[in-house]
Amino acid sequence: MTRIVPLQQTCRCGGEMIIHMHTLIYKARVKIEKVPVFMCQSCFSYEPHPAVKADLAALLAELGEFPGRRRISFAERNEWAYVLNSTFQGYTGEERDLEPAVRQAVAERIDLLLDLLRVASELSDKKWMEEIESRLLGLVPHYKTGVY
Ligand SMILES: [Zn+2]
Repeated sequence: MTRIVPLQQTCRCGGEMIIHMHTLIYKARVKIEKVPVFMCQSCFSYEPHPAVKADLAALLAELGEFPGRRRISFAERNEWAYVLNSTFQGYTGEERDLEPAVRQAVAERIDLLLDLLRVASELSDKKWMEEIESRLLGLVPHYKTGVY
């Protein structure tokens, strides 16, 4: 059975949490932009989306305890955040139709990456192939298995 990452969940307060692209501030010095979070529509608390927690934790570990001032786009480090962000940017429809829109965007991105992979493999470009494969791996769980 196909299941994808949920785009909604229920908050501790009972409110509805919806997905939202958020800028996180780390150690008051680093701005991490375009992080998918669940935000409650009633109490406005938020938490990183479960699907990006591992990549976010890796990024914070990389930044360390005393990071320099900088600005980072999380969408450049996480394929799913990238797809979500581009879907949101062009999105003008109803909120309830967002989930199919995201699902379709993920499917299209996977198709595009598979095409690129074919090209890379025809060129026997190993490095490029590896890069595309790691991008694909970042998306496939959102498409098929529903680990979360
Ligand atoms: Zn709440």
